[in-house]
Amino acid sequence: MANKFNQPLGGNDMPRFGGPATMMRLPTQKTAQGLDACFVGIPMDIGTSNRSGTRHGPRQIRAESCMLRPFNMATGAAPFDSIQVADVGDIATNTFDLKKSVKLIEAGIARIIKHDCIPLSIGGDHTMTLPILRAIAKKHGPVAMVHVDAHLDINDEMFGEKIAHGTPFRRALEEGLIIPQKVFQIGIRGTGYSPEDYAWPRSQGFNVIQAEECWHKSLTPLMKDIREKIGNHPTYLTYDIDSLDPSFAPGTGTAEIGGLTTMQALEIIRGCRGLNLVGCDLVEVSPPYDTSGNTALIGANLLFEQLCVLPGVAYIDL
Ligand code: MN
Ligand code: MN
Repeated sequence: MANKFNQPLGGNDMPRFGGPATMMRLPTQKTAQGLDACFVGIPMDIGTSNRSGTRHGPRQIRAESCMLRPFNMATGAAPFDSIQVADVGDIATNTFDLKKSVKLIEAGIARIIKHDCIPLSIGGDHTMTLPILRAIAKKHGPVAMVHVDAHLDINDEMFGEKIAHGTPFRRALEEGLIIPQKVFQIGIRGTGYSPEDYAWPRSQGFNVIQAEECWHKSLTPLMKDIREKIGNHPTYLTYDIDSLDPSFAPGTGTAEIGGLTTMQALEIIRGCRGLNLVGCDLVEVSPPYDTSGNTALIGANLLFEQLCVLPGVAYIDL
């Protein structure tokens, strides 16, 4: 029986290094009509504060995604047996104007979610999550958020600018796009400007889980606790690749040592199963600093894991 859902092109139909470089070798379509979920690229890096290069992230993540097979052998998730997914291409940002890019991203995401399609956005620097949240909150109201990152991204300004990759969650809080008591920031670490750096988000109600609290242990119990605290509320998952230790994921702009392992990343995302996810992203992969391609490869795998935990995905008993 032919499967009624889009399937990734198989490795026995076309060599993995051949064919169009879409995400997971899925079919493309111009709009999100008829889709339950889509991969969408957001190529931009003009919000970065140190090394740039994330404008090349979506293309490189798609290239490295060619090794992904359709079934999740660890969890039993069978997304392509149960929901309709395609690659809808990239949102055309304006590489000469960050504020215009932010407007273009919000409009691009709004065009996707009006079809009740869940966007899995491929970054791009973390500035992009602000306009995504603006579009999502217009549809769903203020959301809960699982934010995996080395950084809080709650600066009021960077170099005098309100919009940059280190400010999105300050703006999101001010604009009422997120519910602070239902925000969980995991993997936070590094040097700071003052001993109070982590105090402000905590004073606003954010749950800050520092990397040191994650060291040497499974994060499965943490995720159980987070699921209980969020409940069925619409939830956004934003995954900054720099949450990982740079020994795993060196290809990023603002690397910090002492980070999460890839196994912990899998535990976090798999631990989001059961949440009412309304959107996900994977940001800050910078291919010029990714000499082995491993950072983009991890990004591709984590996007697949995000797809696997979306509402409506069927699981096969293993
Ligand atoms: Mn970030
Ligand atoms: Mn970061």
